[in-house]
Amino acid sequence: MNFRIGRRRRIFEGKAKVLFEGPEPGTLVQYFKDDATACNNQKKGTITGKGVLNNRISEYLMVKLGAIGVPTHFMRRLNMREQLIRKVEIIPIDIVIRNIVAGSLSKRLGIPEGTVLPRSIVEFYYKKDELGNPMVSDEHITAFGWASPQEIDEIMSLSLRINDYLSGLFLGIGLKLVDFKLEFGRLWDNDELHIILADEISPDNCRLWDVKTNEKMDKDRFRRDLGRVEEAYQEVARRLGIMPEITALVPESEKP
Ligand code: UDP
Repeated sequence: MNFRIGRRRRIFEGKAKVLFEGPEPGTLVQYFKDDATACNNQKKGTITGKGVLNNRISEYLMVKLGAIGVPTHFMRRLNMREQLIRKVEIIPIDIVIRNIVAGSLSKRLGIPEGTVLPRSIVEFYYKKDELGNPMVSDEHITAFGWASPQEIDEIMSLSLRINDYLSGLFLGIGLKLVDFKLEFGRLWDNDELHIILADEISPDNCRLWDVKTNEKMDKDRFRRDLGRVEEAYQEVARRLGIMPEITALVPESEKP
């Protein structure tokens, strides 16, 4: 399996994933690493088996979203750590959707973590690591040409639909979807431009709290040194019914 990894052209390496050239034009292979970063790259580490679990969790959620009509970049899972995706032009904006106050919102406005929001809030962040991904408004996005007003409308409506669907899905397995981050891309299809859900949806970019205990079941366990990080990712996969047996704890033997 790994000889194929060696031969493929690497297009981009991010903090938690690597993108390789795909087998056909317009496709990419998305490889999930065990690497974890937090606090704008100041904290670095490894969460054993995370790549395997996030590959499965993101596959599961993207397929479900596809089934309710949300266009996604996901095509199919190739193996434990890789999935075939459609190549899109990534819109340089992180979309954060919040249902309960946590993290940066709590810090910025001094509102206690756990406060239930009267309505879901959508925030935009400009994807620029050097600047620490600053928060921006739709005015900045259109003024600087990062996305058009129509694209923002589409992103907002897809984000709220995704939030409604995923909130219900997670509630069904005893988890509260506190907040999460999405990325979208553009795809041209016969001169028609489509907005497509890209990146991944996993405990790396969602906050998930147990309904009964409020225990954190996501990357905050790593960010805040809460311990039992691997177990939290496994528990999310287990509750979704996709826990890949023993393989989940196999470390990344070879880096791509
Ligand atoms: N998030 C993310 N990538 C980022 C920033 C945030 O995936 O670069 C996710 C994070 O996991 C959380 C949500 O977006 O589910 C909101 O994060 P927040 O703004 O509270 O920032 P944080 O406290 O993580 O710095």
